[in-house]
Amino acid sequence: MSDPLVSRMRQFGTTIFAEMSALAVRTGSINLGQGFPDTDGPPAMLERAVEAIRSGANQYPPGPGVPELRQAVAEHRRRHYDLAYDPDGEVLVTVGATEAIAASVLALCEPGDEVIAFEPYYDSYAASIALAGARLVAVTLRPVQGRFTFDPDELRAAVTPRTRAILVNSPHNPTGTVFTAEELGLIAELCQERDLVAITDEVYEHLTFDGVEHIPMATLPGMRERTVMIASAGKTFSVTGWKTGWVCAPPELVRAVQTVKQFLTFTANGPWQLAVAYGLREELDWVADLRAGLEGKRDRLMSGLAAAGFEVLKPAGTYFVQTDIRPLGFTDGLELTRRLPELAGVVAIPTQVFYDHPDRGRHFVRFAFCKKDEVIDEAVTRLKRLGA
Ligand code: PMP
Ligand code: GLN
Repeated sequence: MSDPLVSRMRQFGTTIFAEMSALAVRTGSINLGQGFPDTDGPPAMLERAVEAIRSGANQYPPGPGVPELRQAVAEHRRRHYDLAYDPDGEVLVTVGATEAIAASVLALCEPGDEVIAFEPYYDSYAASIALAGARLVAVTLRPVQGRFTFDPDELRAAVTPRTRAILVNSPHNPTGTVFTAEELGLIAELCQERDLVAITDEVYEHLTFDGVEHIPMATLPGMRERTVMIASAGKTFSVTGWKTGWVCAPPELVRAVQTVKQFLTFTANGPWQLAVAYGLREELDWVADLRAGLEGKRDRLMSGLAAAGFEVLKPAGTYFVQTDIRPLGFTDGLELTRRLPELAGVVAIPTQVFYDHPDRGRHFVRFAFCKKDEVIDEAVTRLKRLGA
């Protein structure tokens, strides 16, 4: 039989995260590839999920999400960002940020529409845009004085009459850039001038370092009404397997996204929603400790990678570090990461797979630092073999 997969999805194959995590398991390597912590979320929040199952919260929750979580999300947005969202009509719970992104793109983009995203971009963006029959237009982030950023003229030139939306991920995976007020302002200006929707992926909102604070696009003047703000419990509470995310947006945008979402999954799982509502209300101190701990891990991994011979680019957020592999004599990150288990017993992510222009990212490799200190130290010890 010829390939049964629809043509618009054929370029996607297996995600790099699945490929590299399988490689880590197969070779017994240390996995600094796929971004997931090796320690658990807040114990009382985990207990809440267990209690919710035991107390019978096991049937379909309402389509928009359980009221407790929608209320907790709205309270969190107000307390943290001074953003007011009505839990009834402006908050929608999704199966992780991944579903929120897919449903938003499917709901808002006609076939042939263009969506701008900054490359390197999180892999699900391209697939969601392809599913919608829309076209991804990539604007490249390049290191300028050690920090990945975009050229405002390139961004401006990327907008055409077919542009429908800009996907903005800050803190940015995989570069670790946290967009400044000025960068966000440029994007916001374009959105308003050209009547575009901003779909913002803010899953790393709490994971910023060195006193840098995340600024939600919706807080910029004129942007709340045209922003679909997406977040998730996975990174905030170290529960990436819970797949509980949410959208905050004006009612007409939420209605559009929910119209699609209800036919993807109808609703998200109930017990985890109740537990995440508890987390948002009671566990933000735990999140502050996580963030402080991650900052130390970032520094630990960065100095280790530098000692191993990589050029290291310092992230202001997320739990990923970008490295330039050329000082070690390598030029192709995909080739290197496929050989890394055999060379050093470590797994990492080749950044080039997140580009429409892979040449621009060929020499970058991403390492995750959301791991125990001893795991980071052992990985670094092994990576020092590369330069030996
Ligand atoms: N966006 C980005 C930038 C991510 O790194 C991830 C991975 N956590 C997601 C979205 C997906 O989030 P979730 O697991 O909540 O679907
Ligand atoms: N967000 C995680 C990362 O970037 C992995 C997500 C996934 O496996 N799809 O590494």
